[in-house]
Amino acid sequence: MSDRQPVLLVVEDEPEVLRINARILARRGYTVYTAESCCRAYERLAEIAPDLLILDIMLPDGSGYDICDKFRQTSDHPVIFLTGKSETQDKIEGLGRGGDYYLTKPYDANELLAVVSRLIKRYLETKQKHRQITEIIKGPLSLDIPKARAAVNGVDAGLTAKEFALLLELLRNEDKDVSPQELYEKVWGVTAGGDTRTVRFHIRNLRKKINADNSNDYDIVSVYGKGYMFTTIR
Ligand code: CA
Repeated sequence: MSDRQPVLLVVEDEPEVLRINARILARRGYTVYTAESCCRAYERLAEIAPDLLILDIMLPDGSGYDICDKFRQTSDHPVIFLTGKSETQDKIEGLGRGGDYYLTKPYDANELLAVVSRLIKRYLETKQKHRQITEIIKGPLSLDIPKARAAVNGVDAGLTAKEFALLLELLRNEDKDVSPQELYEKVWGVTAGGDTRTVRFHIRNLRKKINADNSNDYDIVSVYGKGYMFTTIR
């Protein structure tokens, strides 16, 4: 969702309201699909995977709640309910049935745009947070990423910041060779300029610290002419 315009599906049976909403959302840069009934909405959902749903509740062939229920079977993206009714009970039901926001008609176009933008932003932030891995465990080796510490069998390996960064980079590319130039750029943040002895020096020390007596079943191996690889060796 981050590298393309968010895709929205707007379900509404009043043609004029549907047209206006689709227009203001499209003008804001969203890719907008529309449906005027539950049946049409289900067809759309079979074709596209929207980043956000905007659902009218009272539809000719059913309810926006039903569309939400179906959507929730496969998606955790935000859902906004729109309705002409303003009873509190409806609000409770809307949120209880997987909706993220409830907008009562008549609402302001800017309010709709603000809610859409906020929900998409919040969704992306939550996803991002979940993606941030804080720990990697590889047999006896464990990495505490926020603290930049590695331990072998629970004992701190005493890695320097650079050694830790090298190890992390190699672990993220487990079983793949990473060139010294690439490691240098990732860890030191500048190009190696052909001199990668620093990398070799640090890798040697790192290996001593994480596999001191060669007793662990992983190692950092040199791949001739290519670079280094973190891999399981037996
Ligand atoms: Ca309606």
